[in-house]
Amino acid sequence: MSVLVYVENTEGKFKKTVYELISYAKSIADLYGSQLTALSIGHVADDELKSLGRYGVSKILRVDSEQFKSFVNQAYASVIASAAKHTNANTVVISNSFSGKGLAPRVAAKLGAGLADGAIDLPTIDGNTLSIRKTAFSGKAYAITELTSAIKVIALTPNSYDVKENPTDSSIEDFAPENEEHDFDTIIKEIVRASDKITLPDAEIVVSAGRGLKGPENWGIIEDLAEVLGAATACSKPVSDAGWRPHSEHVGQTGIVISPNLYVAIGISGAIQHLAGVSSSKTIVVINKDPEAPFFKVADYGIVGDAFEVVPKITQAIKAYKG
Ligand SMILES: Cc1cc2nc3c(=O)[nH]c(=O)nc-3n(C[C@H](O)[C@H](O)[C@H](O)COP(=O)(O)OP(=O)(O)OC[C@H]3O[C@@H](n4cnc5c(N)ncnc54)[C@H](O)[C@@H]3O)c2cc1C
Repeated sequence: MSVLVYVENTEGKFKKTVYELISYAKSIADLYGSQLTALSIGHVADDELKSLGRYGVSKILRVDSEQFKSFVNQAYASVIASAAKHTNANTVVISNSFSGKGLAPRVAAKLGAGLADGAIDLPTIDGNTLSIRKTAFSGKAYAITELTSAIKVIALTPNSYDVKENPTDSSIEDFAPENEEHDFDTIIKEIVRASDKITLPDAEIVVSAGRGLKGPENWGIIEDLAEVLGAATACSKPVSDAGWRPHSEHVGQTGIVISPNLYVAIGISGAIQHLAGVSSSKTIVVINKDPEAPFFKVADYGIVGDAFEVVPKITQAIKAYKG
């Protein structure tokens, strides 16, 4: 019995959310009194792989061949399932990231496992039953899910668990997975980046704006703030519908669901459909001129004021602080 965690790399590097995921998986392994194995697919340098030991990984399985250079959903899912069988894992932990959302159900199906996706807490374990709190209805509610299957797959919401150091001696082992016949029927030939900006699903900080900005010509203050914070930019649905911003920035029930460390909402009312996409952000800051705006009810910090006055002042203050 052991716990397997799939560690996703971004161009050969691990992001902070990977260390959170490992810390979470290590806590589950401790609940079982078992070992934690990490699975890495694609090319990652040894030093980077070794960094996983700092957070409690005992063994790192490495799959680093030309075939797996680019992400292929069904092939990666087969590798994870194959590694789970190889390590006799009873629990597989995956990030509920953009790619994790595609992987977790596939892995669960391949292993005949129960799935808790969007988990936000450590589970409680009672015999073979694992109870876990997860988000439901696009983040509008929580559900307690009970998994009673022999193997369990948990997909953890990014930014919902703190990084905990747990220095452990770890070894790297090359792993030859078993793949299925049709795993490579669809492959990615080439990835062309739309821009060099930080992508929204990966961003730790997001600066987002709504109809309160009045028009696309006013987005300069949003981009300036995003730049000093090292943030990605997002927007509400009416803003992208009106063509003020690209649809790739639309967050919410019908857009991208994100959970950054910091979400700054400027001139956005906080309609339930918008909140569905951002409510699992760790810290929410709202800037709105209407003190009754619903967004303030879910804000950690709120500023009642005109965005056109407040936002440039915040940008200046951050620049001065950094300077
Ligand atoms: C089926 C369905 C799905 C939907 N999906 C989504 C979704 O995925 N994402 C989404 O965002 N919406 C979605 N919507 C739309 C949603 O209901 C709201 O209409 C939308 O989120 C409102 O966008 P907004 O807050 O930018 O605009 P508004 O509601 O017009 O709010 C603008 C806000 O700006 C403030 N403001 C105005 N001027 C200033 C100023 N100078 N300084 C500071 N604040 C100012 C106002 O006080 C107001 O609170 C959906 C709706 C439906 C029916």
